[in-house]
Amino acid sequence: MDAEIIAIGSELLLGTTIDTNSAYLARELAAAGVNLFRKSVVGDNAERIAQAIREALARADLVICTGGLGPTLDDVTREGVALAFGRPLEFRQDLLDQIRERFSAMGRTMSESNRRQAFVPAGARAIANPRGTAPAFIVEDPMGTVIVLPGVPYEMRYLFEHAVLPYLRDERGVTDVILVKTLHATGLGESVIGELLADLMQQENPTLGISAKQARYELRIGARASSRAAAEALIASAEAAIRERLGPHLTGDAPLAETVVRLLQERALSLALFEGAAAAPIYRALARVSGGLDQLRGLVVQPLAGPVDEAAAAALALTGATSAAERWGCPLALGAQPASEPDPSGLTAVCVALVTPEGSREVTRRYDLRQPEGWEFVATLALDLTRRYLLGAPA
Ligand code: AMP
Ligand code: MG
Repeated sequence: MDAEIIAIGSELLLGTTIDTNSAYLARELAAAGVNLFRKSVVGDNAERIAQAIREALARADLVICTGGLGPTLDDVTREGVALAFGRPLEFRQDLLDQIRERFSAMGRTMSESNRRQAFVPAGARAIANPRGTAPAFIVEDPMGTVIVLPGVPYEMRYLFEHAVLPYLRDERGVTDVILVKTLHATGLGESVIGELLADLMQQENPTLGISAKQARYELRIGARASSRAAAEALIASAEAAIRERLGPHLTGDAPLAETVVRLLQERALSLALFEGAAAAPIYRALARVSGGLDQLRGLVVQPLAGPVDEAAAAALALTGATSAAERWGCPLALGAQPASEPDPSGLTAVCVALVTPEGSREVTRRYDLRQPEGWEFVATLALDLTRRYLLGAPA
């Protein structure tokens, strides 16, 4: 079964509310084995909602809408769906009774505007909403099926889990399982990774998708099968092929910073840090990991006071790390020092040193530090240097 999602609400188009519902629905549909081909967002306008639904149904069997079921006049999803199918809206006394009961259970009186929520397109199947006032509904039509859920995220999630999933399983024969496993890699360019994995990326099942984020790569393997075990087997074969080709560039099943924290924990090791710039990228990366700062023994942040070229930066990274190690009696210390000025192309040399009982490892790379994301590369470089050392791999 092929599906599309339409998120409805002018606040989503204005960017004042982030469309988290679509992301939730996308994850859940994938886990249920439903192919999702497109997500769209439309404002609270009945004509445009109707048009979006008709377009989506021309491509997909199932459309899930979320949002615009409130009692106020700006919520027009009911009208939009009715228009899409050329059906009138129908008043349903049973729905009005449900809504009224919900209000009296909360000790409140229903306002007249809630009457709007008792209308659904003629012939629609209503879904009671025990979490809110807006009933959801399903329209089954020769054009296709539309499932309409409220926009309030916890109501939407509840109804998806308790009504939509059972409907898809029991009445629409959705039985496949889609599993996704994410591997993390670094230390290679995106195009090199793309070339090494080209054939796997062209496969239909399992699929492989890559997303790059500041020199870190997420490799998503997705497998579809009729059972969990079969999907796991497909994933395992793709994973084995990726491991063989990327070898030590694969950093683990978790993001790099998490992997480094876990390796330190497992070895009962802690880390001292010298950061030669106020951005303190390594510290920030560790701080984002739960328990990450527990593995940190001490931190010196010492922004440059004067001009420093690449050679001087390399010396400062190493002496900074060495003195941090001594100061906290810590066997492992990382130092990171960017040069004071970028070169004419805008890239700044960044030197990273890792001091260990077996000697030091040093690397220098050039990054664009004029943009905040540039510092993320520094963290990736330093953490990967640490990871390789902890695993006994070459630098
Ligand atoms: P509505 O059903 O359109 O009246 O929306 C009810 C509430 O849910 C509002 O606070 C919306 O901002 C929120 N909401 C609606 N659609 C979404 C969405 N796609 N993702 C996250 N929140 C939403
Ligand atoms: Mg709305």
